[in-house]
Amino acid sequence: MSVAWTRHRFSGGALALDTANTVVLRGDGERSFDRFDDPLEIARFAASASGYRADELKGRALAAPDPHAIVTKVIAIRETTDQLFRRTVIARALPTAGMPAFLNACADGLAGSHELLGPNKPFGASQEPLAFEVALAVSALSLLSSDTVSRMRICPNCGWLFVDRSRNGSRMWCDMAVCGNRQKARRHYNRRKEVANA
Ligand SMILES: [Zn+2]
Repeated sequence: MSVAWTRHRFSGGALALDTANTVVLRGDGERSFDRFDDPLEIARFAASASGYRADELKGRALAAPDPHAIVTKVIAIRETTDQLFRRTVIARALPTAGMPAFLNACADGLAGSHELLGPNKPFGASQEPLAFEVALAVSALSLLSSDTVSRMRICPNCGWLFVDRSRNGSRMWCDMAVCGNRQKARRHYNRRKEVANA
């Protein structure tokens, strides 16, 4: 069955984190699964990201016309991004140990591209759609800025990575409407159970 790439699945605040979050329930051996198991989902994800990530992409559309040809590069960027920034959240600092693998994966994503990245057009100014693996590498590299590093979080409900851009930096959930409410419902249920057992 194909994946419904809804707004919720773009809660990471950056294309590279939304991509990292395409593995569901990481670390849970029994329930974890990969939404990119079918490489065609990469093309569908890229098309949805063109809309949901338009703010980051400054309107540049993404395309993955031959997802089977890029799947290895995409997965390498995705996995090294997840590893590096998950460790970053825990350490509250960027660990250099995870950087060589991450930078090599990003270099492979950029290899062969000829884009000009400017301050107002961070994903290039061409009218042509941008290759997804190039956009993914550019987005992943942008996460290295110290401001983003200090705002990187892990959702305590679903384990997704996200950038907290709230003014006071106190956002807890990847998506209040989904994970925040689930947690609230669970607390409510547990309270009722305690009352019932009292
Ligand atoms: Zn969440």
